Amino acid sequence: MTEQTVWKASVRGVPRSFTEEHRLKATSGLRSHHAKNAVGVSIRKSGTKSGYVYFTTGKNARRAVHIVVMEDLLGRALAPGECVHHVDQNRSNNDPINLRLMSRSDHAALHRALEKGVTNGLT
Ligand SMILES: [Zn+2]
Repeated sequence: MTEQTVWKASVRGVPRSFTEEHRLKATSGLRSHHAKNAVGVSIRKSGTKSGYVYFTTGKNARRAVHIVVMEDLLGRALAPGECVHHVDQNRSNNDPINLRLMSRSDHAALHRALEKGVTNGLT
């Protein structure tokens, strides 16, 4: 029993939190959209990509879920200079209605405005 307690403490519950996040963040729309491939996702925990969800397995392994969802909606790959904005600014909410295709320059301008709290007309 002691060994089990030590093991749980040493991993700090990370495997459990992953499982919980997987269930919460892989939305029903996402599941149906990628039923054949999205057998695993992981939320980036640090760095500039922190908060984004990535596929861990299947043909889209290591690709960001919001990019893959947008490409499926478009029926094509993103072009250079295009990017995908999370309308509610929640990087793990990859429901198609929360994603907006934008140019990189428009996207950067939008985020500068959001940081200033000037959101009228841009979101
Ligand atoms: Zn954005």
